[in-house]
Amino acid sequence: MTETALVWFRRDLRVHDNPTLRRAIDGSDRVVPLYIFDTRRFGQSSRWIDEPRIGPLRAQFVRESVRDLRDRLRERDGELLVRRGDPRSIVPDVAESVDADVVHAQRLPGTEERATVEDAIVDRGIDLSTHWTHTLHAIEDLPMAVSDVQDTFTPWKDSVEASSRVRDPLDPPATVPTPDLDGSPIPALSELGYDAGEPADERDAPMPVSGGESAALERLETYVFERDRLREYRETRNGLLGMDFSSKFSPWLALGCLSPRRVTQAVDRYERERVDNDSTYWLVFELRWRDFFQFQLAKHGAAYFRPGGIRNREIAWNRDGSAFRRWVDGETGFPFVDAAMRELAATGYQSNRARQNAASFLANTLRIDWRWGAARYESRLLDYDVASNYGNWAYIAGVGTDSRDRAFDVLWQAHNYDPDAEYVRRWVPELVDLPPRYAHEPWRMDADEQARYGVELGIDYPQPMVDPTAHFESPSS
Ligand SMILES: Cc1cc2nc3c(=O)[nH]c(=O)nc-3n(C[C@H](O)[C@H](O)[C@H](O)COP(=O)(O)OP(=O)(O)OC[C@H]3O[C@@H](n4cnc5c(N)ncnc54)[C@H](O)[C@@H]3O)c2cc1C
Repeated sequence: MTETALVWFRRDLRVHDNPTLRRAIDGSDRVVPLYIFDTRRFGQSSRWIDEPRIGPLRAQFVRESVRDLRDRLRERDGELLVRRGDPRSIVPDVAESVDADVVHAQRLPGTEERATVEDAIVDRGIDLSTHWTHTLHAIEDLPMAVSDVQDTFTPWKDSVEASSRVRDPLDPPATVPTPDLDGSPIPALSELGYDAGEPADERDAPMPVSGGESAALERLETYVFERDRLREYRETRNGLLGMDFSSKFSPWLALGCLSPRRVTQAVDRYERERVDNDSTYWLVFELRWRDFFQFQLAKHGAAYFRPGGIRNREIAWNRDGSAFRRWVDGETGFPFVDAAMRELAATGYQSNRARQNAASFLANTLRIDWRWGAARYESRLLDYDVASNYGNWAYIAGVGTDSRDRAFDVLWQAHNYDPDAEYVRRWVPELVDLPPRYAHEPWRMDADEQARYGVELGIDYPQPMVDPTAHFESPSS
């Protein structure tokens, strides 16, 4: 065996439980790890809205993750080649320059992800071996073909729970036998098309996380064992503020810095050593939601992105740019929604509850094309994942995997999940002095109250952009 294998890292930026890396090491004498900052994405605009596809916070998170991967490869005598450009030419060019006999790469769902690069490699006569590695349940272990994956979650989950085992995660390799390589530096944000002044180095609380496998494994240990938060996950997961109401694993899972099987391994250990309850089950249940969307995208391909979704519903979506902008900027006049949108802009994160409400407001209340909202999230989320993002958006917009009406009563949700208006006051500082009832519904203040609290509607904080009584039922009325 004197083979050289090129390992093209994509959204699998880790050395633990990385079957792609493992296969390359097991099958070859020399392994050349490669990461490409794909210029078809970095610095490019979204298809639907005037936003970068990858906002500066995520660009920075990716850089940190690549740096950490390089460090972890170096600890194993390896090196990482880093390139910037179009993978369709870079992968085959690098493969030829290092005399690679085979390219190993992660296989991902997604219409853009498939085919083009793979064709370019195969067209140059280089062997290509792709590996589906990012889901909890391996694609080969599903009890059905991908084309037969059910379009509703519960029956799919039931059948997977009944007849698919989660594989044990692989240990990291002891060494990565890389030939002498000039690894090349990680491009600066400015080289990736971001302004030097972008606030990329200082993410605001509550997402003070850094990219990379090391930080991911540390967070896993901290959340589950040190802080012992898994015990109550099911009760706390609808929280809005702080690091510990939910796991915050998502940015690392999305880039593959953390393997979902490594998470379930920790859950299993926690169940053996501490407690086995609804909460420990529920974290794995949520990872199955994540899997479900991956397999849905693999099944439906381009139909996933249609205005009418996989069910091809006929809906005349509104495409009012200025209304959309108010939503993006957190200026809708609905504080719960505005808090969520301002949090997203500042941190690259929103809780699941905040996402559901902000998404429902756009798609169900304003009836604006859900894909515009999804594109905004694509730009800003640290944890952006094509399948989870567009899948959840379609689900909320009523064009996805479930036929039920998913419209949220944003006022009821605000009072229920943010009873003291702590979340609203954290992200909408204009309203900081208002009592909770008014912080959620400032339009209820009369002129005297507006003067007393120093918030004049339409001047200090916007009037609601739709009539609240026409859309929502306030629990306080
Ligand atoms: C409109 C909308 C857009 C979303 N976009 C994304 C996205 O781009 N990327 C993303 O990872 N999640 C997305 N989600 C799902 C979910 O909101 C986040 O995964 C979760 O809030 C991340 O925080 P956490 O890691 O603390 O979650 P936890 O509650 O701790 O959950 C653990 C893990 O389970 C997975 N998970 C939980 N809920 C979901 C879900 N509904 N769908 C898919 N996976 C889930 C995530 O990987 C998460 O890290 C979206 C949800 C909505 C409503």
